[in-house]
Amino acid sequence: MTTGDKRFPLPLSSVVEKPAKTGRAEPSSQKVATPQTATQNAAQNIARVRASAAPAPPARASQPAAPVAPVVRSEPLVSDAVRAAMVARVARQGVKDAKVLAALDAVPRHLFVQPALASQAYIDASLPIGHHQTISQPYIVARMIEVMRANANGGVLDKVLEIGTGCGYQAAVLSLVAKEVYSIERIKPLHELAKSNLRPLRIANIRLHYGDGMLGLPQVAPFDGIILAAAGLEVPQALLEQLSIGGRLVAPVGARHQVLQLIERVGKFEWTNTTLEDCHFVPLRPGVA
Ligand code: SAH
Repeated sequence: MTTGDKRFPLPLSSVVEKPAKTGRAEPSSQKVATPQTATQNAAQNIARVRASAAPAPPARASQPAAPVAPVVRSEPLVSDAVRAAMVARVARQGVKDAKVLAALDAVPRHLFVQPALASQAYIDASLPIGHHQTISQPYIVARMIEVMRANANGGVLDKVLEIGTGCGYQAAVLSLVAKEVYSIERIKPLHELAKSNLRPLRIANIRLHYGDGMLGLPQVAPFDGIILAAAGLEVPQALLEQLSIGGRLVAPVGARHQVLQLIERVGKFEWTNTTLEDCHFVPLRPGVA
């Protein structure tokens, strides 16, 4: 335990309530980010990370590359500082993949939790999202994506599948490390919640599906990566079959005692299994609700 840890969790309110250190005496002169500007800035942030992460398009002699729009922002938002602290903490917890940390830094987690919980959005915990489900802890979101990316392809991921969209947070993070993200949720109101959380962020490469994720999406398979955000007693066979050869699946497995497992498809009929660490997830359930 380092002394630095004592500063966390840092609730949004603790930052919001501090007077700005600009030397301006008038509290009324502080700019307050409205929900609309916060969402616009978040969308720009995501677009910027995507633009910097995207592989260079093939050169076309007749068409010069479109310039990336600069991020116009008058003042940093309070949530940026709190989110940066969250990312620093996740890095201290052992996540090293810079691309994953950048993605975590770009996604406004506070927009994925109920307004009453927004001040807790950046603490290191899962939080309720209704229907007895939770938004996953930031560390585990980052860890699973880091493990999925550590493939023989240098981290390049064309198609990935997430089982358990919940509020859509992890799908948003995934959208910054993969070309196409498919995510399945079995609880209809949560599927709708994820849609409305993601819509204002204008993320073009996420496809949300309502259905039983245990069946996967055979019509879209194979996937380079699959992440399960809910724990089953075993990983459904259908999902193993939908991994590409060289693809990596990361899943919590178990009931009361759960472990994070990495399954790699090494051949048409061959998979390897590695147990990584203990974890705690909501249960994977069959069918839809
Ligand atoms: N990915 C979310 C975590 C959501 S919690 C995040 O970003 O924080 C896990 C979700 O898995 C719950 O919403 C639950 O309803 C869903 N789930 C459980 N079993 C499922 C199944 N068979 N198919 C699809 N979703 C499932």
